[in-house]
Amino acid sequence: MNILLSEDEIRVRVAQIAAEVNRDFAGRPLTVVGILTGSLVFLADLIRRIEVPLKIGLIQASSYCGETTTAGELRINDALLTDVRGRDLLLLDDILDTGHTLTRIVAHLNAKGAASLRTCVLLRKVGRQQVPFEPDYTGFSIPDKFVIGYGLDYDDDYRHLPYIGELTP
Ligand code: 5GP
Ligand code: MG
Repeated sequence: MNILLSEDEIRVRVAQIAAEVNRDFAGRPLTVVGILTGSLVFLADLIRRIEVPLKIGLIQASSYCGETTTAGELRINDALLTDVRGRDLLLLDDILDTGHTLTRIVAHLNAKGAASLRTCVLLRKVGRQQVPFEPDYTGFSIPDKFVIGYGLDYDDDYRHLPYIGELTP
């Protein structure tokens, strides 16, 4: 295991993102929407540093044909989403790779009547994006490697690791 981002580095950066969110949303109630399952750890850490009133919503996106990260049909399950009509949303994902997932979910949430929507990713892979998408908040840019930990999985394992690492054979 090659550690790319240590627990300490992540903690410092998450606090900085929370400070930006607190500044940008000062006094405005917020709904933080986490994309399952990868954003769970990030969401749990980030929300505890956010000082505006907030609700939590969860949404799940899975690709039809297995675990491919390339373009394909996404199935969106919003059974765990709170009512987003008229709410200011902050959509969280673990990693921006091709950009398809976030693009689709942004459209889905806007269609549900969100008042406004900002996006936040912990990681952004450099050189992988296939559709134009600019997150409002980005934790770290990382090289094109398959990473695990801090919510990110390989075959649903390793999500609990407190750091982000590159899985080596
Ligand atoms: P996109 O739709 O932007 O291509 O893909 C985003 C999703 O692909 C992420 O939410 C994540 O589930 C998955 N993904 C992309 N790169 C990685 C990676 O390096 N590690 C893991 N564990 N998941 C990844
Ligand atoms: Mg994901």
